[in-house]
Order: sequence, then C-alpha cells, then structure tokens
Amino acid sequence: MSHQEVAIVGAGIVGLAHAWAAARRGHKVTVFERTPAACGASIRNFGMVWPIGQPTGDSYATALQSRAAWLELSREAGVWVNDCGSIHLAHRDDEWAVLREFAAVAGNLGYSCRLLTREEVLQRTPGANPNGLLGGLFSDTELCVNPRTAIGAIPPWLARRYGIAFEFNTSITSIEDRQLRSADGRTWLADRVIVCGGSDFETLFPAAFAGAGLKRCKLQMMRTVIQPDGWRIGPHLASGLTLRHYKNFAVCQSLTQLIERIAHETPELDQYGIHVMASQTDQGEVILGDSHEYDADISPFDKAVIDELMLRELQKLIRLPSWTIAQRWHGIYAKHPSEPVFVTSPQPRVVVCTATGGSGMTMSFGLAERLWTSWEADNQPKI
Ligand SMILES: Cc1cc2nc3c(=O)[nH]c(=O)nc-3n(C[C@H](O)[C@H](O)[C@H](O)COP(=O)(O)OP(=O)(O)OC[C@H]3O[C@@H](n4cnc5c(N)ncnc54)[C@H](O)[C@@H]3O)c2cc1C
Repeated sequence: MSHQEVAIVGAGIVGLAHAWAAARRGHKVTVFERTPAACGASIRNFGMVWPIGQPTGDSYATALQSRAAWLELSREAGVWVNDCGSIHLAHRDDEWAVLREFAAVAGNLGYSCRLLTREEVLQRTPGANPNGLLGGLFSDTELCVNPRTAIGAIPPWLARRYGIAFEFNTSITSIEDRQLRSADGRTWLADRVIVCGGSDFETLFPAAFAGAGLKRCKLQMMRTVIQPDGWRIGPHLASGLTLRHYKNFAVCQSLTQLIERIAHETPELDQYGIHVMASQTDQGEVILGDSHEYDADISPFDKAVIDELMLRELQKLIRLPSWTIAQRWHGIYAKHPSEPVFVTSPQPRVVVCTATGGSGMTMSFGLAERLWTSWEADNQPKI
C-alpha cells in the first residue's frame, strides 16, 4: 500500500490512536480538533488502563496490546504511566464469593490475577478500609495514566516523532468525496478519513448513527486535593459494586446473588448506575467515581445526591488521609450495545470510529492497530 494522506477528525484518545497507527505505517497524517485542546471524555476519565475488565479472548488481547502501547509512550514520549495493577476489594461475603469463583478460573481464561488475604491487601495498599475487609483480587495488568496530561502530551510527541500535523481550533463541518471542510471555510483533500468525534452524533454523518443503537452515557466524577505527605494508594482500588459492572465477572454464577442483594439492599445505587473506584495521579490527587446515566436521563446539571452516594460507598471501601474534594465534573461517552467500538463507512474510504464506552483508554491503541491492519491488508477497515 502506498503512503497516503490520512485525515483524522477528533484528538481524543481514539483519534490519537488512529493517528499513531497510520503514521507508524508511513502515512502522512493530519488531525483536526475543534477545541484548542481535546476536552471530551478522554481527559475526564480515571486514567485506568483496565484489561482485567475485558471479557476473555479478543477483547482482553486488544487491551493488552493497548497496555503495551501505553508503556511504549511512557518510554518514548515521557508520558507518565504507573504500572500499578489493581485490587478488587471484598467487604461482603457475596463479593468475596465472586472473587474466589473468578480467581479459580481466571488462569485458564488467560487473566493474570490472584486472590489476596486481608493481610496481603493491607500490605499492598494503605487505601483499603480494613473494617470488614475479607480479601481482594490482585491483577498485575492495570496501568494508571493521568488523562489530562497524557492527552495533552501525545500530540506534540506525535508531531515531533512522525511529523503528524495537528489543526486545533478547527471544527470539521462536512466531508464529501474525502474533502473536509471546516467551519471557517478551509478545505483539505485526503486519501482516507477517520472520524473519531466521540459522543457527537450530530455534526458529521448523522444518518450513519441513526439506528446503530448507540447510547450516550454520563458519568459524575470527583477529585481530591493532593494527598498530604506524599501518601500513595498503590494499585487502583475497585469495589464489590464494580463486580457487576465489568464483563469479565459475567462468567461467575455467584454474581447473580450479589446483583440481587445490591438491587434489594441499595436500589439507589442501581438507579444511578453507581459503582466506586479510585485511582491516583502522579501529582497525588485521588480520582473518585462513578455513576452511569443514559440518553434521556442525561441532564446538563449534576446531581448532588449522586456525589453523596458515591462518597458514602467510597468511605466503606477506602481510607484516605484527606477526603477534601477539589474538583467535580462529568463526562459523556458513546457506547455500542454489544461491540467494544462502532465502526462504519458512510462514504468510500471514510470511516467513522467511536463508541469505545467506558474502556476507551484501555482499548483504543489495540483497536486502532486492528483496524489499520485490516485496512492495509484487504482494503476493508474492520475490527
Ligand atoms: C468519566 C469517565 C471515566 C472514564 N474512565 C475510563 C477509564 O478509567 N479507563 C478507560 O479505559 N476508559 C474510561 N472512560 C472511557 C473513555 O474516556 C472513552 O471511551 C474515550 O475517552 C472516548 O474517546 P474518544 O476519542 O472517542 O472521545 P473524546 O475524548 O470525546 O474525543 C472526541 C474529540 O472529537 C472532537 N470532535 C468531535 N467532532 C468534531 C468535529 N466535527 N471537528 C473537530 N473535532 C471534533 C471533540 O472536540 C473531542 O475532542 C471513561 C469515560 C468517562 C466519561
């Protein structure tokens, strides 16, 4: 395949992953981003690279491929990446039952994780709440990145290393016959175009989204002040509530009982899709979340009750030297009902690629590699 002009719309993690994958193959890449710097879902997340949450098989392998790409970015671009792993904590018998059932099959399914006793958990993290703690599941595949600084640092590195051009403050308003037109009337012609517009279904190719079954999901998040005295949490921490959120635990029969108990005991958590997790930035702030509200339930106004419920559950799960909340925000991602990403081609050699759901930081580099491999091999942009 000869080297071509590639245009990418959107400088979130999905657009950056495609820019890198195309440039690695020798293409001449330009990325268009409507804001001065990406400020969508990709800078609003936990920064958890979370392979353990993916179902076994292709998805888990793709997540590990992305993990390797983040480590390469750390080495080559100086992006801060903490190879911290994760612990799912169990404070209830049914949570511990799910972790034990998962750990028993995890090795055969290809996961790299093991059970920790209560004492082993407390040795690995000062952040676990010891009250009622039964044990945990440690996985060594999770990474922590600081989304705000990482998404800002990748474009200048891609520009230096591969000559990728970035057109910030450039909103693409139409694409016709591979000609991109911006809101200020400028035009560019490309051989191939990839639209990575995140949860914007309205601006480009709205017909391609109609009927695709994509949902938008809003998540509320918080961040503490920098923890005092250089305190570090160690691995990412996740709750028993999290076990009902990620697909990897769906192999556990004991999950049904846990889901029923939560629905009966704390229906308010199901109402707002709350499960709680914590990660820590290089600066020392702890990122806390999250909730899930879909489509018609999404309001521009955040709900104080959601933050209160998350803090209630987080305080059962973890201990922090300082619970002072410095920032609150929400983010919105697009999600496909069954696939890890939505890929469609509304025009020849124009591809829309979005809806990485709650796993865009985990999956995007691997997904982009898969798409570019198929596009180069048989001219079909598939994942
Ligand atoms: C609160 C929250 C927590 C999360 N936590 C995690 C996590 O810990 N780990 C994980 O793996 N995933 C997580 N995710 C999911 C992850 O953040 C998303 O899957 C991912 O960021 C989506 O990336 P994107 O590039 O598709 O979208 P975005 O980051 O939204 O980027 C899309 C970009 O396209 C630009 N754009 C759109 N239309 C145009 C146009 N016409 N012209 C020019 N530019 C345009 C936008 O300005 C935007 O910058 C989380 C998501 C949220 C919201």
